[in-house]
Amino acid sequence: MVEVTRRQFLNVGAVGAVGGSALGGSALGFNVATAEQVKQELRVQGATVSHSVCPYCAVGCSLLAYTKKNGDGKVELLQIEGDPDSPVNEGTLCPKGASSLELAISHRRVPSPLYRAPGAREWKRVSWDFTLDKLAQNIKASRDRTFVTTDADGNVVNRCEGIAFAGGAAFSSEEGYFATKIMRGLGVVYLEQQARV
Ligand code: SF4
Repeated sequence: MVEVTRRQFLNVGAVGAVGGSALGGSALGFNVATAEQVKQELRVQGATVSHSVCPYCAVGCSLLAYTKKNGDGKVELLQIEGDPDSPVNEGTLCPKGASSLELAISHRRVPSPLYRAPGAREWKRVSWDFTLDKLAQNIKASRDRTFVTTDADGNVVNRCEGIAFAGGAAFSSEEGYFATKIMRGLGVVYLEQQARV
């Protein structure tokens, strides 16, 4: 039988801890992947599972969202993963979809509109009323400045060439219809969809 000194044993343990995923920790009979799986299962044990759809693109992958009440009685979103029963994604998600938990809980999300005035160096937090007024003013000014009534051949075109609009894949059909109506009404011809970008 091979003798293992205390030092050799500790060295193997250290390598297993640092490079656990590469070695699988198998030198110590410890499987890191299994431990991760158990950790995930414990994390969502007893949680409510809700079905949802990834908001990012038109593929429409199905999601499972795990929620649980914490000690304060507040519902906490614990995990989002692909739904294995979905014929669309069969439990898989692309990197964007796999990060959708962050969309809901990341502390780095910007919670309100920010505005940087022309020439200013700093962004400042502004209200939604300010933002909507500003958008309306800028849309009107751009449209007035770039509206084309006739093309070079004298054809009546009545189009706005100074504004482009990109719809989000999370739009419902109604929102997409509504946004397109508004943009076409303004004469905007450059319409695009996030799912095609
Ligand atoms: S962004 Fe990725 S996960 Fe989300 S619907 Fe599209 S392909 Fe699926």
